[in-house]
Amino acid sequence: MSDPALDILKSTFGYQSFRGFQSDVIGEVVAGHDALVLMPTGGGKSLCYQIPALIRGGTAVVVSPLIALMDDQINSLRELGIRADCLHSAMLPEDRAQVERELLLGDLDLLYVAPERLLTESMQRLLDQIQVALFAIDEAHCVSQWGHDFRPEYLQLSRLQTRFPGVPRIALTATADLRTRQEIRERLGLESARVFTDSFNRPNIFYRISQKKQGKQQLLNFLNKEHPEDSGIVYCLSRKKVEQTAEWLAQAGRKALPYHAGLSPEERRSNQHRFIAEEGIIIVATIAFGMGIDKPDVRFVAHLDLPRSIEAYYQETGRAGRDGLPATAWMVYGLQDVVLLKQLQARSSASQQIQQIEQQKLETMLALCEVTGCRRQILLTYFDEPLDKPCGYCDLCLEPAEVWDGTEVARKALSCIYRSGQNFGVAHLVDILLGKSTDKTRRFGHDHLSTFGIGKELDQGNWRSVYRQLVARGYVNVDHDSHGALKLNENCRSLLKGDEQIELRRDRYEPSRKYEKEYREVGRVVVEEHDQTLWEQLRQLRRSLAEEQNVPAYVIVND
Ligand code: ADP
Ligand code: MG
Ligand code: ZN
Repeated sequence: MSDPALDILKSTFGYQSFRGFQSDVIGEVVAGHDALVLMPTGGGKSLCYQIPALIRGGTAVVVSPLIALMDDQINSLRELGIRADCLHSAMLPEDRAQVERELLLGDLDLLYVAPERLLTESMQRLLDQIQVALFAIDEAHCVSQWGHDFRPEYLQLSRLQTRFPGVPRIALTATADLRTRQEIRERLGLESARVFTDSFNRPNIFYRISQKKQGKQQLLNFLNKEHPEDSGIVYCLSRKKVEQTAEWLAQAGRKALPYHAGLSPEERRSNQHRFIAEEGIIIVATIAFGMGIDKPDVRFVAHLDLPRSIEAYYQETGRAGRDGLPATAWMVYGLQDVVLLKQLQARSSASQQIQQIEQQKLETMLALCEVTGCRRQILLTYFDEPLDKPCGYCDLCLEPAEVWDGTEVARKALSCIYRSGQNFGVAHLVDILLGKSTDKTRRFGHDHLSTFGIGKELDQGNWRSVYRQLVARGYVNVDHDSHGALKLNENCRSLLKGDEQIELRRDRYEPSRKYEKEYREVGRVVVEEHDQTLWEQLRQLRRSLAEEQNVPAYVIVND
């Protein structure tokens, strides 16, 4: 017996076989049942509603959050001879009228609509006059406040069920932790829908997260060393940084192009097109870039700033290596990123509840950065798919974090916050610990504090690292109102009292260029001061140079 879905897959789409559970989902929807599909980006969600659209009578209505996404899909469907069109607010009235006519004549297999359009009076009247094959709700996490792209218009989609009973609905998303999943089901009235979950593990992506030092230079080192000719995406938080970074990379000889919402539509389109069509293009972008980009050979995704949640991180890094070949997810971050993100959150007009949610998400993201165990285990546990053992091929599995007993220094760091009145950012606190007499320490009388100069055993970089880890582990809060002042919270009480021990991890950096030159030319480096950070850097540098070309590299440390 022939399978109509398989026939269409072969004859219309030109593929030989279904991937994963595509065929099961299609069967479910063709039979008129609801479905919730959770499949990573690039997994092949679209076919799950496109093929039922062709099998069931009438027109399938697809809700999609971005006009650019709709246009891409419609263009590729038309190339396959499928009758697809869209209705959204950016269209000319006469074009809209034309699409409505086609719809009423039953000449459309698929109609893409923006969520805010779907439930307008006029749209409802139109839909009442035609046969709706199914409703597909793409990027369904937009309905959830836990999802990272919450879109209030998606909330109205709950009415579809009562308004069009008997029409099957299929919701699809690439990122859904347990909580988002629950919200999607509740808010879309999909409690009884069958759920199809694909594995969220992306075994070909190598995750690497390290501390930010000189940001851009670290990025360039990484690119030159590991991806000298590959194309990839670099994410930054602000438009300005996008432009600066793109320019900087271009000057360093890479084909780098900016992409953010402030560019003209032509420039965005052209840069996006070059990224897909040419080889070796690096797109430097804000998060505005990527939804729906279907480029299989993105070899790396780099983050110069911390993403605001694990979902965002997973979604963005997920754009790498869709062809299944090895790809790198690289990131550097620092405490400054946390301060900035918190300030952005506080400035947003979102409700208190949403701000709280965002805060929690940021904290989980930070925890991923500071783990000492397997990165992939943490990531997959978040998506309710725990790995039973370390993956063996993430940065921390290959080179386990070095930990040290930080109980004593953590107590010093915390009491310094307390003694100075919980009103100061990390730079000033470190000055106090190191006993640096600055205008600011003198002005506030902090050079008379009992904590002044009690922290000379660590250098500035290491103290920053201590504070960053205390924030990441929830002992210290970053206050966004007063320029990133650090404040103690309840959790640190037992640490301060001496009832709790804390292990800190040693930071990793890319080796510094200055020493690299000296190493290469002289074969050794003499270091004057006892400096743990530097020592660690040099150790790594020695290791990598020795591997690379048998450089007889050694370090002399003069304490
Ligand atoms: P998603 O929406 O899950 O991110 P898409 O539906 O855009 O993914 O599909 C990603 C890519 O995989 C597309 O290029 C698509 O044509 C391709 N694809 C999907 N299903 C199959 C299949 N069964 N065989 C081969 N390629 C497929
Ligand atoms: Mg998709
Ligand atoms: Zn691992």
